[in-house]
Amino acid sequence: AQVVNADFVKSSVRPDDCPRDGLPEFALVGRSNVGKSSLLNSLVRRKRLALTSKKPGKTQCINHFKVNDSWYLVDLPGYGPARPFLGEIEGESRALLLQILLEWIWQQSPTHGLSKKLVRIYASAPQEARTNWDEFTRNYFLSRENLVSVFLLIDASIPAKKIDLDYASWLGQNKVPMTLVFTKCDKRKKKKNGGRKPEENVETFQGLIREYFEAAPPWIMTSSVTNQGRDEILLHMSQLRNY
Ligand code: GDP
Repeated sequence: AQVVNADFVKSSVRPDDCPRDGLPEFALVGRSNVGKSSLLNSLVRRKRLALTSKKPGKTQCINHFKVNDSWYLVDLPGYGPARPFLGEIEGESRALLLQILLEWIWQQSPTHGLSKKLVRIYASAPQEARTNWDEFTRNYFLSRENLVSVFLLIDASIPAKKIDLDYASWLGQNKVPMTLVFTKCDKRKKKKNGGRKPEENVETFQGLIREYFEAAPPWIMTSSVTNQGRDEILLHMSQLRNY
């Protein structure tokens, strides 16, 4: 299972615009910043191939890359907020950050209008964090006949996120074939800092979605830094194509 050539084919704004040659395809999807572009580039061993999909205006498109003239890798729009912000930061760090913010505001001027604004930003963050993936991606999942499997990317260096669990359970409930791809498995936080090993995050995530699937979905641990999992993904894709 090797990638001999890979070429960007087209960006589509509707499932109807996607290539119609019926070749098998695998869709890569995940929260913004999960490492999707890095993985895509590592799969085709070509730096910056996926950059096409990061150009302004292309991030909300379905981007088709043809591999070995015989199948497609499909880059879907990332979901969730583009950059980590308060709504994304959880637990202790969130409390600490809020405390620093409030102290700073107090130092500036307790009556300053800014404080109200910041509190408003803080309050609205969780809602924004729930920013939903579009109807358009769902339609693609449900209508694309040559879609062999959705490769859902999950960041293994952080604890399970609700938005990822929601995404996975939606795929499970709608019986969309899915492969879990855990990214950033090279990243290890120190235990004493409250960090958990990627393996622990992976296990927790799988446990939390199990009830939505008849059979546990296949899963692969990867790192774009060490290329861990690269060959495994390509082999898995080739097995699914020949199935
Ligand atoms: P995208 O928004 O999902 O396309 O994510 P990118 O591929 O742009 O990666 C987001 C950030 O995560 C970048 O700073 C990458 O350098 C970093 N990153 C991506 N993959 C890995 C990985 O396997 N290991 C580590 N340690 N960092 C990664």
